[in-house]
Amino acid sequence: MVQSPVAVPVPAAATRTRVGKRLSLVAPCYNEQEVLDLFFARIEDELAKLGVDYEIVCINDGSRDHTLAVLLRHHQRNPKIKVINLARNFGKETAMSAGLDATTGDMVVPIDCDLQDPPELIGQFVEAWENGADVAYGVRVDRSSDTFVKRLTAQGFYRAFNRLSDVDLPYNAGDYRLMDRRVVEVLRQLPERNRFMKGLFAWVGFRQEAIPYARPERAAGTSSFRYWKLWNFALDGITSFSTAPIRVWSYVGLVAGVLAVGMAGLLVLRTLLFGRDVPGYPSLMVVILLSFGLQMLAIGALGEYVARIYQEVKGRPLYVVMDRHGFDGQGPDA
Ligand code: UDP
Ligand code: MG
Repeated sequence: MVQSPVAVPVPAAATRTRVGKRLSLVAPCYNEQEVLDLFFARIEDELAKLGVDYEIVCINDGSRDHTLAVLLRHHQRNPKIKVINLARNFGKETAMSAGLDATTGDMVVPIDCDLQDPPELIGQFVEAWENGADVAYGVRVDRSSDTFVKRLTAQGFYRAFNRLSDVDLPYNAGDYRLMDRRVVEVLRQLPERNRFMKGLFAWVGFRQEAIPYARPERAAGTSSFRYWKLWNFALDGITSFSTAPIRVWSYVGLVAGVLAVGMAGLLVLRTLLFGRDVPGYPSLMVVILLSFGLQMLAIGALGEYVARIYQEVKGRPLYVVMDRHGFDGQGPDA
């Protein structure tokens, strides 16, 4: 059912080894000045235990605070911390793509820098990878750090998404995961500008393994995802992976059409049998208002897709890098 036009060579099911391999972390940062010191302390500690070479690619996504300065301070201290400074705020999905493009590791882990993605999990990810998983993704076992409304809407979203699209989005899986280099290369080949990473992660397939974890509260600072943003995020997700919301209108139209013909027949019959009576103004209004509302909804759904086609067709680059720090020989370094 899930189509996979990107041909991927299936490797021998041999187990892998981390020895001599490199792990790339991708950390998008937007207004995270308070949490970064803590983040690096925790993450470097954890990475030291793993026994692999690593790099931490941090993307400053147009922060309005001193995030960039803090990142550069850490880059000076530890050259494995590399910084991509985007020209403005492009949003987490795009920042993550910018980071993925810059990674060189055999394993790649996108991670939030607010410590909501517990660094201890990376050890388990790497083990799963050594045992043959191409993707090891974290699944939140309890969402008690979220509000009731957020939990409810998240649940509704996963249900709607999985019903409407061919891609199965695992419940409560976020962006936190480890991916093999081959998976990252497939992701990088996907040309779309509207990048709903959760969906793309699932769409690529490969051998995926779920690793349960409890998601803590953000260590400091505030979440930049408010409900309106989440709603738009959900719309992006569904429209990028399903055409059901525009296709369904043909059926709605068909049903309305059949009903209208039936109604017309009834009216003709009634007039013939009983003669003309007082015209039904209320029922007429109901029909007019209802069909008007439905038409507006249908046009709206169409608009959502047309707008996205427009975005894709413009073909603008996904993101604009202002400067890069720590990427020797990979483009201009500031
Ligand atoms: N983020 C980003 N650009 C944005 C918004 C968020 O790079 O426009 C980053 C943010 O710095 C964090 C991650 O995305 O590392 C998740 O954001 P947040 O914690 O605000 O979201 P939540 O955990 O509440 O879903
Ligand atoms: Mg967070």
